[in-house]
Amino acid sequence: MIKLSHILSYLTCPRLAYYRYHFGDKRFSEKQAVREIYLSLRRGFGVEWAKQRILAMNECFEEEIYRNALKKLVLSEYLKELKSLDWDVVFTSKELEVSLVVDEIVEFNGEKFPLFVSLNAPPEGVWFPDRIKAGITALITKMNRSMIYYAYSGELRIAEADLGIRRKALKLIERLKMIKKGFLPERNETNYCKGCSFVEDCKSTPETFASKFL
Ligand code: SF4
Repeated sequence: MIKLSHILSYLTCPRLAYYRYHFGDKRFSEKQAVREIYLSLRRGFGVEWAKQRILAMNECFEEEIYRNALKKLVLSEYLKELKSLDWDVVFTSKELEVSLVVDEIVEFNGEKFPLFVSLNAPPEGVWFPDRIKAGITALITKMNRSMIYYAYSGELRIAEADLGIRRKALKLIERLKMIKKGFLPERNETNYCKGCSFVEDCKSTPETFASKFL
């Protein structure tokens, strides 16, 4: 099954999506830490519970990453106005062959929203990957507006899944279906390569003619 995280990896680097889809990536990230701390605090369980959840689910826990996330996270007062209906919710579409985990389902002014926790906010609106996240979510859940909570500034913003973004989301799913079949995309050398878990494999794996189409 293609996961939302694979699709978002594709936006960082198509080849990274290939490696993560076929081999997984166990590395612990600040984003995972922030998400768990947010969910734990929203439920009133405290940060120690967040750490227990992280330890239970991550083989590669790093204390420094966790502490960094804890130091920077802001839990805004106005979040109390959102009624929390559920959290950590898995949605799957057999037709699309895609699954995703929504961080929280909330209700505001009588409307249900999927809510995703992110880190730093852009100057305006939401980042492109967050729009894609909203697009994929809309395709699977039929909820056309997602909330993005930028936890490092405590800002809540709406990501609309309009027709254009749903079309882009579908195109990305098609790319991932090609990757699932075994097509290896081209290398996409950026600053991300320096910290990429797959850098050695990537350097030693040649591109093929088909790589150019992904
Ligand atoms: S090393 Fe760079 S090009 Fe290769 S998979 Fe990682 S991010 Fe992509």
